[in-house]
Formats: sequence, structure tokens, C-alpha cells
Amino acid sequence: MSLARGPAKILTGDIFAQSSVQIAPVTVAQGDRTRPVLKIQDGCNNRCAYCVIPFVRGHSRSLPPDIVIAEVRKLVASGSREIVLSGINLGAYGRDLSPRATLSDVVCRILEETSLEQFRLSSIEPQDVTEELISLVASSDRLAPHFHVPLQSGSDRILRAMHRWYRAGHYAERVKRIRQLLPAAAIGADVIVGFPGETAEDFQMTFELIERLPFTYLHVFSFSARPGTEGANLSAPVSATVIRERARSLRALAQRKSSEFRASQAGRTFRALTLAGGGDTWTPAMTANYLKVRIPGRWSANQWHETCVSSDETSVAVLDAVSFQK
Ligand code: SF4
Repeated sequence: MSLARGPAKILTGDIFAQSSVQIAPVTVAQGDRTRPVLKIQDGCNNRCAYCVIPFVRGHSRSLPPDIVIAEVRKLVASGSREIVLSGINLGAYGRDLSPRATLSDVVCRILEETSLEQFRLSSIEPQDVTEELISLVASSDRLAPHFHVPLQSGSDRILRAMHRWYRAGHYAERVKRIRQLLPAAAIGADVIVGFPGETAEDFQMTFELIERLPFTYLHVFSFSARPGTEGANLSAPVSATVIRERARSLRALAQRKSSEFRASQAGRTFRALTLAGGGDTWTPAMTANYLKVRIPGRWSANQWHETCVSSDETSVAVLDAVSFQK
């Protein structure tokens, strides 16, 4: 029997018509998996000149708070001890809901209505790192002292060209405030080097800003044009050689700052959650302030241990003779 075939049909949808958040399949803390990521927000209403995300993920939309609570409870019931709350633009959480809510609101509800032992917030845009949110993180030992705040550039001229909503001065104030209220917090940033038109002077401003601020780690990205974005059509591209050199120099700076932070924490005792993997005689673990440590012995993942941070990630933390499990 032969089947008559017509021309293939391509089905399309309008991503901007999406009004719901698909709960991403989360990695559940079973076996040796830990730190599941719960996506509570999707899409973005911003239009950063280098970013294609709004075109593929649509408008910002949030998972209603009652569903967030139900999902957190499910993860806790399945054994999760730490959850990472994430979103494409997490700081925009709740603005689309009726009644309107904020990220701080849903964080408070998780603290009050669930028994989750620890949670961590993923990347938050600088303008959404509010005094309320920083104070909230500082007020609870169940919220990991960890802020990841995209910087992208330390030059106001480049930030404007990127259509970023803040200026270097505002950014610096926020980061300094985090450090003031949370002296041991992990503070990370994303930075793009080689955005079209970035001069040596613009790059120097970025370098100096990063040098001045108390970052504990950095993600450095080399600009690459994404078709369909404004950034792809801008003139004055930066040469690949210059981009490579700028990225190299920022990564070296990041490495130095990271080591300095680790050295400043060396000798302090923290609770750390074991992760999967490791060697014959050690198990990797993560502290609330995002330091990786090595626990002596082989332990299953997702267990709390008291550990002493050493100045070198590869050396074994020695104070960790006794573990405790909640
Ligand atoms: S970089 Fe972030 S804030 Fe900017 S458009 Fe992309 S997702 Fe939105």
C-alpha cells in the first residue's frame, strides 16, 4: 500500500503568546545527584543588544507562588537538601502575576512554608538586587550567601550600547552593599569582552572596576554576534586577537580574586553538602558560599559535613573528621 505524501507542513507558534512557565524537569536528589534546579521564571522583557533569549523564550512569566511551594515540598520529600531557584531573568519574578509578587515574596514563602534546608538564587540582574533581597539573604542561614550579578561591562558607554539598564556606579553600589551585609558571601559576575565599539579605554574601565570590587569568581565571555540581534549588525567590531587578549587578562584577574577570596576564608569552618564524584580517598562538597572543598573519605552525595576550608581547593580539608546528617 502506498501512502500519498503532500508537501511537509511546518508548524510554528508565537513564543510571545506563551503565558505559562513549563516546570523544567528538575534533577532530583536521588542516588548521587544533588542541588536540583527549580525554574520558577521563564522569558525576558529586556532587549540586551547581544542576546537572542527574548526571541526564543518570549516574555517574562512566572510560576505562581503556590505552585513554587508545592514543587519545593515535592523536592524536599524526595530528599533534596539544597535547591537552586532559577529563571531566565529571575529578578523579574512575579511582575506578570496577579496579584503582582516579587522574588523576595516567594523567597519568604519558601522560608515560612517549607522545611527546605538550604536554597540558592541563580543569576539576578543588578537593578533587581534590592536592599530588601540582600537583607533577606543576610537574615536567614537557610539562604546561601551567594549573589551572581551580571556586569557585562564596566564602561557606561558600552552598557548603554548594550541596552543594559544600569551604569557602572549603580552596579558597584549594589556589590559593595552585598559585601557590607554578607562579609563571606560568594559574589560572581558575567562579563563580555569585545562588544562592538569596545575601545582599550572601555576595557580598562571594566578591568579596573572588577579589580576594585569584591568578586569571588567571574565568568568571562568573548563577544560573538548572534544572528537577529542588534549586536550582530553593529559596526566597529573588535578583532579576534584583541578579544582573546582581553579575555585572557580578565580570566587571570578572576583567578587572582578567586584565590584571594579563598585564602581569606581558609581556616574557617563551614557546613558543606557533598557532591557526586571524587577520588578513592575524597569526596567533593560545596559550601553555602560556593567554595568547593574535598572531604576526606568516600561519602554519598547530598550529605552535610562540617568542613574547614583550605587555601587550595585540591588539598583536603582536615577538620572534617566527623560528619553530621540532618
Ligand atoms: S541578557 Fe538577560 S536580561 Fe538581557 S535580554 Fe538576555 S536574558 Fe534578558
